[in-house]
This record gives sequence, C-alpha cells and structure tokens, in this order.
Amino acid sequence: MLKDKSHILKAKNLLAAGDNDSLRYCALELRTCIELMCYDRLSMYIDEIPKEFLKKWRPQDVVNILLECDPYSDKDCTVSFAKELSGGATGPRQMFGSSKGISKKFIQSHYHKLAHYLHAPTLADIKAGEIRPLADVKIDLQATLNEIEILAQGTMLANFGEFVTFTCQICQLPNKRNKAGLSEGKKVKCINPNCPAEFTIHDLEEKISQIKPVRAGWSCLKCQTNHFILPKEVIVGKRLCCSKCKVEWKIGYSLKSVEGIENNEAKK
Ligand SMILES: [Zn+2]
Ligand SMILES: [Zn+2]
Repeated sequence: MLKDKSHILKAKNLLAAGDNDSLRYCALELRTCIELMCYDRLSMYIDEIPKEFLKKWRPQDVVNILLECDPYSDKDCTVSFAKELSGGATGPRQMFGSSKGISKKFIQSHYHKLAHYLHAPTLADIKAGEIRPLADVKIDLQATLNEIEILAQGTMLANFGEFVTFTCQICQLPNKRNKAGLSEGKKVKCINPNCPAEFTIHDLEEKISQIKPVRAGWSCLKCQTNHFILPKEVIVGKRLCCSKCKVEWKIGYSLKSVEGIENNEAKK
C-alpha cells in the first residue's frame, strides 16, 4: 500500500517524456515512493519502537526496524473473515484486505540503484566511457516502477501479532512488543528515547516480568557498597556518587596486565 500515489503518476509521466532530465526526476520520484511506502508501514509500529528510531529515514533502516519488531513484516498478507457455523464449520469467506511486505532485497536492488541516476556522471565515468545509454536507464526505471506498483497495490496496512507489555523499571513507561520478534537472550531498548534502559528477554513463555534491564555492577572502593549502572552510562569522565558514604568517583581508563587478570580468573 502507498497512501499518496501521486508520485507514481509523476514518475510515469517523466518516464514517458524520456529525456535525460526527465529520467533524473523520475528516479527521484521513484525514490520518494519507496521512502513513503516505508514510512507508511513504520506508522503501524509507533507503539513498539523507541521514538528516536522515528528519525531514521533511510528505507533500509526502516525495513530493519520493522523486521526487529515483527519477523514477518516483509511478507505479503491477506485477511479474510467468515462466520463460524455450528460444528466448527465456517460460512463463506469475505475478503477484508491485503498488504504487501517490503523486503531488504527490494531495497538493495532498487533504492540504491536509483541514487546512481540522480547524479551527473563523474569525470572517471566519462573517461571510461561508462555512461549508460538513455534507453538502458529507461528499462531500469520501468522495472523499478513495476515493482513499486505491485507493492502499492495492497489495500491495508497491518501489524498483527500477539503482544506483550511490560513496565520499564527505570523510567516506568509501558513498553509493548510483538512476541514474534522476541527470543531468549535478545536485547530490546526501552521505547522512551530519554531512558537508557536495555532489556534482556528470559523465559518469555513463563513470565513477562523476566524482561530485566541490563545492568553492570560497581562497588564503592571506600565503603564496599555495591551499586548498579546501565551500560550506556559507562562513559569515561562520568562521575558516580556512592549513595551510602557519599564519596564521588570518576570513570576513567586503567591498564592491567593480561597475566594478572588470567591468574585471578584461574584462582576463581
Ligand atoms: Zn525506560
Ligand atoms: Zn561508599
């Protein structure tokens, strides 16, 4: 599905004109179509993705994020419904709609190629005589346009799945995730862009509360109290304050001999 199909029409007209400049503008319109199709799909996943990801504009980033949320997001899908009759039988099916998934392969083979046609040939291209004839460029653009028209055909944007929700223990914001995109040991980020929490998935089938923030431990060198810090907060120069003895510490670099570390590990 593509909500705004005006760019397909513009691309068609420019392709029909067929001169050098028109084909360059046609490539731009086709790239716009691909970007808009990606953003249309991304809008269905707003509740599941960290808000900072909404700034990602490159189609390959968007496709990766969608796959992260839902491993089936690049697949086509058709939805129909039917009345359940007695004895478990179903009545006549009625079509609800269909959606087309955008794959990484599509982006790789079409979006990047279009970029090539936006730019003037380099001096090296001219010297090597590697300037594509307009007829060949036209064939390439037509092939991409055909693919875009197929992807734009879908009649609905869908995000189906079994979802789990959990509250971030750091910022208290509810997080929502599609179960199909979660697996044992996988790390997911909190949806709040201002929250540094990262979670590891454990025993998903057993208990959702097993989604725990990833934390690292440190102990105060003065009073030996143990504290936790999020991996993102481990920055050289950052100050940490011991909540018990109130001594302030600063994170820095240190150099240790590998021999010493290995001997200590061997003793454990
Ligand atoms: Zn959070
Ligand atoms: Zn202390």
